[in-house]
Amino acid sequence: MKVALYLRVSTEEQAVRGYSIEAQKEALRDYALKKGWEIAGIYEDAGFSAKDINRPALKRLLKDIEDGKINAVLVWRLDRISRSVGDFSDIVEFFEKHGVIFDSATENIDTSTPSGRALVNVLAVFAQFERESIGERTRLGKLKKVQMGNPALGLPPYGYRIEDGEYKINEAEAEVVRLIFKLCVDNHWGYRKIASHLNEIGLKTRQGGFWNHGSISSILNNPIYAGLIVWNKTKSLRGKVIKRPKSEWIKLKGNFPPIISEELFDLASSRIKERNQRGRSLSSVYPLSGIIRCGLCGMSYNVNRRKERGVVNYFCSSRKGKGSVVCNNRTVNGTKIEKLLVSKLIEITQKEKELILSSFKGENRGEEISKEIKNISTALERIEAKRKKIFELYEDEEIDKAILKERIKELESEMALLKSRQEELYLRQDREKNIEHECSVAKICIISLLKV
Ligand SMILES: [Zn+2]
Repeated sequence: MKVALYLRVSTEEQAVRGYSIEAQKEALRDYALKKGWEIAGIYEDAGFSAKDINRPALKRLLKDIEDGKINAVLVWRLDRISRSVGDFSDIVEFFEKHGVIFDSATENIDTSTPSGRALVNVLAVFAQFERESIGERTRLGKLKKVQMGNPALGLPPYGYRIEDGEYKINEAEAEVVRLIFKLCVDNHWGYRKIASHLNEIGLKTRQGGFWNHGSISSILNNPIYAGLIVWNKTKSLRGKVIKRPKSEWIKLKGNFPPIISEELFDLASSRIKERNQRGRSLSSVYPLSGIIRCGLCGMSYNVNRRKERGVVNYFCSSRKGKGSVVCNNRTVNGTKIEKLLVSKLIEITQKEKELILSSFKGENRGEEISKEIKNISTALERIEAKRKKIFELYEDEEIDKAILKERIKELESEMALLKSRQEELYLRQDREKNIEHECSVAKICIISLLKV
């Protein structure tokens, strides 16, 4: 199989780490190697956007395909070929016509199947939506400004003021910013505790209001205080703003003074991360979050709380994160699954109990034990009565001393036997009661843990 590696990176993307042409090339080589494909050529379009097909390397690739030099085309991502659905389908059709396999190193596609081809088209539609909703031109203009170190000027963040079109430190506010970072890093406080502390000591927000979780969070998570501008954090996809992976962020030193050091900012970020992770593991509100796993893909199921209706749902994290193309397992209602689990656990404890009880092989149990204990008591009473009678006979000189002694001895050994049996039965009764008790405690624990 002779494969062509097609690489493209736009001028704008060249500024972003993780998009570099070298990294793409590396990934493609690895991928081709794994598939056992022979690399017939590398086609690079550096500094070209995907809005049209007017690209020298792409043209060369199409020509080589026509000349029968290539059996497969490998890209890092489908949008390397084109972001326009029309161009994209044309090219994929052209590949098909020449019997060329089209594959992406990061998206699981196989254009030799109808579903693979459909998927390719769906992804192309998304790519076009994305391109159109952002508008590469405006992005490019914005990026140039960022690269020059100017924050996109608007209302300055708390701690700064704007003077002559530049950010200057507002000392009074900057003091509060430093305090917030100190409380987070040195005192290990969370957003809420910091907010309530500031409110207690009478500090107000810029609007003169109370500090809250959100206002503290927006300060601790804003790299601007370390003198950094981060751009490209989000993108819009089908009209929704979504977060980009950190590897795609553009981080630049601004041309304005920092309020805190980069080191302190990073420390605060790791404190926040620690807290979040701790919070998640102690999540008592959603006890099954991260514990139950997807039966289709094996990833964890997490909670998705729809606040307005108070409905708690558990969803497959890989479906949520990567889309239904990766995993299509359904969302489950939280209350339902928790109830189901509780009944399952109770069933298991019940079975466990039966198992323990049945290990008292062939022994009497429960009611039978009580019955036997009662019988023994009656027997003991009867023996006691007999003993009394024998003494009476002796007193009335009906029997002599030797017979008395012999009879008493017999009765006493009979009594001892019965008493030891009775003792044994009492112990067994206790053991059974303990097992019953432990099982009911286990049930209560399970129920209260899951608050069902
Ligand atoms: Zn799944």
